[in-house]
Amino acid sequence: MFHGFISVAPKCDVCGLDFAFADAGDGPAIFVMLIAGFIVVGAALGVEIAYEPPFWVHLLIFLPLTLVVCLGMLRPLKGVLIALQYRNKAEQGRLRDP
Ligand SMILES: [Zn+2]
Repeated sequence: MFHGFISVAPKCDVCGLDFAFADAGDGPAIFVMLIAGFIVVGAALGVEIAYEPPFWVHLLIFLPLTLVVCLGMLRPLKGVLIALQYRNKAEQGRLRDP
């Protein structure tokens, strides 16, 4: 369903479903920030408390970890949100015609 890293393809390769409805917006990003923040900050705190390493060790471990966790979760989470949007027929709110 993707065309490139996170841009959505125009339609499904398998069943031809039109992905014009798909608009996850900032949804994937906020979940990635919350989950990655929890993982990375928690791990950094754990390492600091357990080993008290110098600052450059934190940089060396947690900058790459942050990148891997964020980039690794972005695409699957976007897929999940689009699937949920489709399943629940979620769309932008509109005023009813008078
Ligand atoms: Zn399909």
